[in-house]
Amino acid sequence: MTESQETLSNLLQENRRFEPPAELAAAANVTASAYTEASADRLAFWEAAADRLTWAERWHTTLEWEAPFAKWFVGGKLNIAYNCVDRHVEAGNGDKVAFYWEGEPEGDSRVITYADLQKEVSKAANALTELGVGKGDRVAIYMPMIPELPVSLLACARIGAIHSVVFGGFSASALKSRIDDADAKLVITADGGFRRGAPSALKPTVDEAVAECPQIEKVLVVRRTGQDVAVTDKDVWWHDVVERQSDQHTPEPHDAEDPLYILYTSGTTGKPKGILHTTGGYLTQTAWTHNAVFDLKPDTDIYWCTADIGWVTGHSYIVYGPLANGATSVIYEGTPDTPHRGRFWEIVQKYKVTILYTAPTAIRTFMKWGDDIPAKFDMSSLRVLGSVGEPINPEAYVWYREHIGASRTPVVDTWWQTETGAIMISPLPGVTAGKPGAAMQPLPGIVADVVDDQGKSVPNGGGGFLVVREPWPSMLRGIWGDPERYKETYWSRFDGFYFPGDGAKRDDDGDLWLLGRVDDVMLVSGHNISTTEVESALVSHPKVAEAAVVGATDPVTGQAIVSFVILRGSAEEGGDIAAELRQHVAKVLGPIAKPRQIMVVPELPKTRSGKIMRRLLRDVAENRSLGDVTTLTDSSVMNLISEKLPSAKSED
Ligand code: ATP
Ligand code: MG
Repeated sequence: MTESQETLSNLLQENRRFEPPAELAAAANVTASAYTEASADRLAFWEAAADRLTWAERWHTTLEWEAPFAKWFVGGKLNIAYNCVDRHVEAGNGDKVAFYWEGEPEGDSRVITYADLQKEVSKAANALTELGVGKGDRVAIYMPMIPELPVSLLACARIGAIHSVVFGGFSASALKSRIDDADAKLVITADGGFRRGAPSALKPTVDEAVAECPQIEKVLVVRRTGQDVAVTDKDVWWHDVVERQSDQHTPEPHDAEDPLYILYTSGTTGKPKGILHTTGGYLTQTAWTHNAVFDLKPDTDIYWCTADIGWVTGHSYIVYGPLANGATSVIYEGTPDTPHRGRFWEIVQKYKVTILYTAPTAIRTFMKWGDDIPAKFDMSSLRVLGSVGEPINPEAYVWYREHIGASRTPVVDTWWQTETGAIMISPLPGVTAGKPGAAMQPLPGIVADVVDDQGKSVPNGGGGFLVVREPWPSMLRGIWGDPERYKETYWSRFDGFYFPGDGAKRDDDGDLWLLGRVDDVMLVSGHNISTTEVESALVSHPKVAEAAVVGATDPVTGQAIVSFVILRGSAEEGGDIAAELRQHVAKVLGPIAKPRQIMVVPELPKTRSGKIMRRLLRDVAENRSLGDVTTLTDSSVMNLISEKLPSAKSED
């Protein structure tokens, strides 16, 4: 941020509150006592959470902390695949559905029980062993959202190989650099997947990457689309190698601190970092939070997380957390608008989904498409809604609750990152009276704070830097191959605290609001203003579906606020929309936050994980040539925005 005395302005006031539904509160998995228990004895609290898992050997030391390096459940041994799969079969739940898998082409679906999953994972584990993959080896996974993807993760976990999933939309060079960084020896992929109504090839990208990666010994290929693929001498087909394996495999226990996976951050701010997660603490916290934050009732809930398994949300809340809890989940291969814009709601209706976990970017897109689309479907099964990935604007939260949750369901806004491994700050649906846009409180067992420049806690009503004061079980154990970068990135800003890079405020009640990345904070006439608050003010105007704001150099104010907005489906661009929106922001937040410019745009630049990439908008706003666009979903968006520039309005 900056040298200014003020840390971060607190401009947005929000008075709406949503009490937990009485029925949900009465039967909630976790009640308010969890907070008192955890604060009385944090380690005992996490020990009890670890006891929800099945350990082959119990740990002797709960936490060894040599800042910034943590070891949790030291001496303990367990097998993650056993915990996620076998133990449910052994408990008599083999016939229970683990995954309802829905392909993008309509009618293309599969039902996978826990017993099926046990067989599939065992076969895949045997195949990996045959292909020469052993404990500690790295396996790169580049796949569409098909059942073989979670099976591959679990097969690696089962034998102690370290997976590195690379999102299936990344380029050959992105894949190559991740293969090189982790020094992977095997790639698991598919011929392609279905995206937007057509087969979308993956294999040619892998071929291009692997041609330059001599360390890759084999490429294991699932046939999904039936597209023609070039076959190289490294390629082996899944249906040849995996299918003929025995469906029996004895899981060997791994050390609690054995590596589980590497996952490169999504690259919103710069060069991705290979975040390393390990075994016992990671599964403890993903399983506990999944049970608590979504109030999962494994016997009756149908849970759907719409993320891609290529991101951490998919790792922790499609694969590891839900399976450890014996949940029944939906997995969907495709996009929300194929073959029509009601596809998500059709899936909710079809499977009677009770818990839905998605991202603000999706919610704002649905707002843009219009209220009439979800209204056509029966979504009365829903009882808890979740949000992750970016701050959720209060208006988007209220829309989600009202149009998806029929004004009944609690919305849990969950703050966490690739690095934290699991949810850190979130309401609990049976405990918290939710405020739209607020992540509310650190979960029991998590000690987070908002501090000023000097690392001192800010009082209620103040803004500053989010920090985590104490180690937590699912924390990253480092950046793969780069301990110095780990220390520098996360532990150097505030002595002894973990610094995630996000700004936050603590409101008058002491509840937490995430205010976006500190790198994006704007310094306007000596005030540090968060992008999130101005964006939320814009989205609170009935004509706006989505907004991105950046600070651009300004001769008078230091920086001035430049806004890019997408209008709602129902709104017309006519009139002086720019003037109207500028007035609106000034009214909601005060004149200091009034944007200098408003540009109506058809799309915003987003990363492949759906997050707004403000640094590119800053380039546009300051008339610079664009920085690196390789992690953008669609780089033509930037041309659309640049073309709009001359019409940008700037007044008084
Ligand atoms: P990179 O670190 O490479 O720039 P990234 O930060 O986008 O990429 P992720 O780990 O996927 O990669 O995203 C975590 C970040 O997303 C958080 O640090 C925060 O900025 C944002 N975020 C996630 N959930 C929330 C939330 N509920 N509220 C506010 N911000 C959130
Ligand atoms: Mg990040």
